[in-house]
Amino acid sequence: MIWGNLEEPNFKFNATDEQGYVHEFFCRADSEDEVRRRLVRKGLIVNWVKPYSFSEWKDRARKATDKVIWQRIRNRWTHFGPQAAANWPWMTAADLNQIAGEKKKLVALLQSHDGTSEDEATKHVESWTASVYEEAPQPGQLVPKTAIKFNDDVWKEMKWHLFEQFHGKCAYCESKPLAVYPGDVEHYRPKGKVDEDENHPGYYWLAYDEQNMLPACASCNQWRAKLTHFPVSGAHSRDWHGVAAEQPLLLNPYDHNVNPLDHLEFGSTGATKARNTSPNGDNSRKYYYLDRPGLGEARFEAMKLVEQDWNTRTLRGSITEAYKELRTDILRGERPYCAAQLWELDRLRKRTIAELSAAEGI
Ligand SMILES: [Zn+2]
Repeated sequence: MIWGNLEEPNFKFNATDEQGYVHEFFCRADSEDEVRRRLVRKGLIVNWVKPYSFSEWKDRARKATDKVIWQRIRNRWTHFGPQAAANWPWMTAADLNQIAGEKKKLVALLQSHDGTSEDEATKHVESWTASVYEEAPQPGQLVPKTAIKFNDDVWKEMKWHLFEQFHGKCAYCESKPLAVYPGDVEHYRPKGKVDEDENHPGYYWLAYDEQNMLPACASCNQWRAKLTHFPVSGAHSRDWHGVAAEQPLLLNPYDHNVNPLDHLEFGSTGATKARNTSPNGDNSRKYYYLDRPGLGEARFEAMKLVEQDWNTRTLRGSITEAYKELRTDILRGERPYCAAQLWELDRLRKRTIAELSAAEGI
């Protein structure tokens, strides 16, 4: 796993493939021509390309988020109702009963009580929903669960762009799944359930947050792998108040403050190991299933490639230059298995320096 970035898309396209299937997605490019060239390279017939404002998607994501928050509020009104009563102290028990967790009813009640417009009342309600607290049950106390229904169309629309941002690779294992599998949009913080905390409702309020979405392959995301796991140190954040302070024990490709190579190391055959017994490294190995059969072998091939590059470059120029150039190239993220390649590059540099020192010693 290596770092990735999510830049905002700025073009939308519609293209038909060889079988007649239509692909309509957004993407990021410097020009319309560049989008067309990229699509043609993928074997697509371009129908149209036009500028796109990401605010359009964000607006839909915001509405979808509001919808799931209100599903949750409706389902647990016994918990959220008293928070509404505390926010609007004039509310009676009969008012709370009448609202029953329905946003529209709350808006209507505020309108009639305050004599305000629907827009104004909606704004008040939305600022209240951004401040509500999830329940924090006592240890051993089980809270009844009601599943939240999500609209997966919203995040599916991100898939093309996410994979392009990660150079066609799974954000976790860095394999390229698209040749054999359509790929997944993975939620780093699971949206509907957290295996490590049976009372956790899931990070439903982040289901449509683009910074919680990563391109993934089935082997990392599904069977035997991440699924709805999310280990943390301390408590899981139960609502939007605590996410910033939460300490995940799983590597996140968007977190550029954490160096994956401080937590994971690669053996000479491409197998991974937690570095210095790092729990983040250990959990990432386990939950992204980084040592599944075949993957170490593919990483090993990538490590051999970097060795060939290193040997060619150090024959031509200095170790410092070769290291700098190769490191910059690997960090662009386009090469296969960049994390393993970076690890190998450091090892090669140390080895060459040691060999040179030994030769000088003779
Ligand atoms: Zn993967």
